[in-house]
Amino acid sequence: MRNLLAGPWLAAWKLARVVLPGGFRILLFHDIPLSQREALARLAGELAQSRRLIDPAEAARLLAGAPLPPGPPPVLLSFDDGFASNLDVAETILAPLGARALFFVCPGLMDLDGAAQSAAIAGQILQGRRAAPEPLMGWDAVERLKALGHTIGSHTLDHRRLAGLAGDQLAEQIGGAAEALAARLGGPVEWFAYTFGAVGDIDAAALAEIGRWHRFCRSGVRGGNSSATPPLALRADHVDLAAGEDWRRLAVEGGLDPLYRSGRRSLDAMAKPR
Ligand SMILES: [Zn+2]
Repeated sequence: MRNLLAGPWLAAWKLARVVLPGGFRILLFHDIPLSQREALARLAGELAQSRRLIDPAEAARLLAGAPLPPGPPPVLLSFDDGFASNLDVAETILAPLGARALFFVCPGLMDLDGAAQSAAIAGQILQGRRAAPEPLMGWDAVERLKALGHTIGSHTLDHRRLAGLAGDQLAEQIGGAAEALAARLGGPVEWFAYTFGAVGDIDAAALAEIGRWHRFCRSGVRGGNSSATPPLALRADHVDLAAGEDWRRLAVEGGLDPLYRSGRRSLDAMAKPR
């Protein structure tokens, strides 16, 4: 059904977008199985060809008020959880395009091995919905990503849901992860993405703690980003590479934004300095 509706909706959205506030987009991916590589390569290739791909440094400039280029919104790519396929994607798809992306990793899970890591992926990342599809990158792989010019961000220490956490637990998940990443990769760690990404998965106390360690926090709430967006309430579009082409484009072009208006309002309220 969603694939049937996506085409006409996308056409209507492209007309509507002209009069709506825009901003750059952040796309959000997780592990990229072999069956989805071609779809990602096509999407990234199209964005690169139309000069829409930006890197984290350019995103920071736009958030600081640099003017948005004319034309369709620029796009920053991001990958959550640190799955091993991320390095393959960086080497085989992003490097040939000269694309630099954001990779959010959980240092506490990277240190686990074998069965312990598989159990943590299935339980803490996938919440028991399915078995671990693949291992996570180790430190060597993450260092290689960094050497390729990508930016490594924190995704909590071991993929805990932050909403409702307090005290030592909150400090460990945010500050502990930042210190572990900085110790191994060098600091500062400017970017953070909170786990699970919905507006109910975060709260004001966690965002305040994130703000003590990081410049930017990316959510999974859909929308555009501009200098009017609180830097701890950045929006991102999850793109389902297994979905049809029209549905995928709709997510990339922000056609689902109207459904997330109240989510963005709640997120902005939580991100306000207190
Ligand atoms: Zn995650």
